[in-house]
Amino acid sequence: MAGRISRRFIDELIARADIVELIGSRVPLKRAGHEFKACCPFHDEKTPSFSVSPDKQFYHCFGCGAHGTALSFLMEYDRLPFPEAVEDLAARLGLEVELEAPMARFGADAGQSDTDGAAASTGAGGGADPQAARAQYALLVRVMDHYRANLAANARARTYAAQRGLSPEIIERFGIGYAADSWNDLLRRFGAGEAAQAALAAAGLAIERDGSADSGTGSEEARALRPAAAARYYDRFRDRLMFPIRDTRGRVVGFGGRVLGSAEPKYLNSPETALFHKGRELYGLYETRLARRSLKRLLVVEGYMDVVRLHQHGLADAVATLGTATTPEHVRRALRLVSEIIFCFDGDRAGRAAAWRALQMVLPEARAGREIRFLFLPDGEDPDSLVGREGGERFQARIGTALPLSEYLLAQLAEQADVSHADGKARFIALSAPLLDKVAPGVYRELLLERIAAALELPVGRLQQWLASPTAAAQLAAARPAQGAPASARQSGRGSLVTQAITLLLHFPGAAAAVSAEQCAALATVGQPGVAVLSELLAQCGTLPGTAAPVTMAQTLERWRERHEYRRLCALAAAAPLVPDGAAASRELSEAVRRLLVQELPRRRLQALIEKARVDRLDDAEKLELQALTTDQAAGVGSPGRP
Ligand SMILES: [Zn+2]
Repeated sequence: MAGRISRRFIDELIARADIVELIGSRVPLKRAGHEFKACCPFHDEKTPSFSVSPDKQFYHCFGCGAHGTALSFLMEYDRLPFPEAVEDLAARLGLEVELEAPMARFGADAGQSDTDGAAASTGAGGGADPQAARAQYALLVRVMDHYRANLAANARARTYAAQRGLSPEIIERFGIGYAADSWNDLLRRFGAGEAAQAALAAAGLAIERDGSADSGTGSEEARALRPAAAARYYDRFRDRLMFPIRDTRGRVVGFGGRVLGSAEPKYLNSPETALFHKGRELYGLYETRLARRSLKRLLVVEGYMDVVRLHQHGLADAVATLGTATTPEHVRRALRLVSEIIFCFDGDRAGRAAAWRALQMVLPEARAGREIRFLFLPDGEDPDSLVGREGGERFQARIGTALPLSEYLLAQLAEQADVSHADGKARFIALSAPLLDKVAPGVYRELLLERIAAALELPVGRLQQWLASPTAAAQLAAARPAQGAPASARQSGRGSLVTQAITLLLHFPGAAAAVSAEQCAALATVGQPGVAVLSELLAQCGTLPGTAAPVTMAQTLERWRERHEYRRLCALAAAAPLVPDGAAASRELSEAVRRLLVQELPRRRLQALIEKARVDRLDDAEKLELQALTTDQAAGVGSPGRP
């Protein structure tokens, strides 16, 4: 089949299909209460253990564990591949199969896709109006040219750029310009008419005044922001050296501005717009690709001034994140281009904290064949100042001393846990367990395990035993897809809170209404295994944009068919529903979510203390608190495995 079957269509198909009629046409079904029973078509049996639920649109065999939706049944019984099963079911209902429009995608789907290269290279972001995007690209280029002309014409700005060590060639190569010290320089030049002003605002270049404060009741600050009382907008960037931010195709998507005087903030970036996403773009990547035909590595620094100055000194593979911490998207983008990344951080406290955050982001991407290293500059130095003073060659030599990921990780852990005694070893293991969890199984993970075992002077097998202790096991269980028989799943109790909540939602999608939007938002930041799935299910059941809330279990499941969580969700769907009806499900779900959020509090505190210990000294009270919290966590107090 050409193209992908539309998710919306599958949703509709499952909503319209009647699983009792479908299975009943192949297998003689007998009514039994709310459900229908039969001898299982998938294994040999004399007494019926196969049941079909019209409410859930789901079948399940207690004998062999077979289960699924109407589509699953066609796939299993008629041995059809998925697209054919869809065609078959659609034909029965007299429906025409709908294919996905190339740009229209579910948010969840786009996030999960590994082929986001395609989505990223469109730049405009999936779904943006292409005509509006073209107009915005064109406007941003004209503004860049305007800023450049401003710089050429303004002696003060030129002097400042020269003082910062920027050569005319590098200013040209990076398209650096100057935003005039004016509230409406851009607005006068490009803002003739309401539509043009709105376009400047949409591109992140102008800011709309707070309309509600027009009656004169606005704060003093708000009034101060109104140079011309009649104007609705004002320029975002004023008296700043302007660095155009280009996407990988060289299109200007936003700007970064360094103030000339002492105004705050020192650095200001374009806000998120239809074209500009901070968490995605790496400043200097386009210029790097132009400069280096064959790109082998990327040097990731913190600011655009760093990038520009490093390029000027011959380090033309420097890029920067844009006023945000390193995101997984940054790392994935970089690793699509090169197999070696060096993260470079200022030697100060903030730099060390940023390095630790970056480490957490790169761990999921770490694997054999990829080289990820960390370079720390002397305290108080940044690449800009350092390369200016000691030159490109000395800086290049520093890069040679960067710590490999594994060494940096071990050094950080060793700073917090003294492995010369047993308690310290336990702490070391407790701290390393969540980090190891982030690393994909494979050669790299094995090597990391060996390094940790060596640091602890433990055999690897022993370390693995420790890591597999009940606490760790309970936390992992919620994330690991359960493929066992449903009977054993029921015997093992109700499972973790996350598992319980997911099970309730699968059986009673309407219970999602019992969880408030605030709770959903708070839940999204809980770091427990399975919570991401729960959050997404809650969003789906509370209606995701472009969909209706699922009415049956089958609809929910079909939305997950192509995801790796699907099997796990099916197993929970086949397990006992925990409660008899929707009202009870709402109560239980609301309670489970409340408890999840409460449990998170000590974990948050522990993380905050660990973070602080890394970059600062803990006082005695904090040390005691850290010790207590670490012991609690190791003992599994408040762990998700405990009911
Ligand atoms: Zn069976």
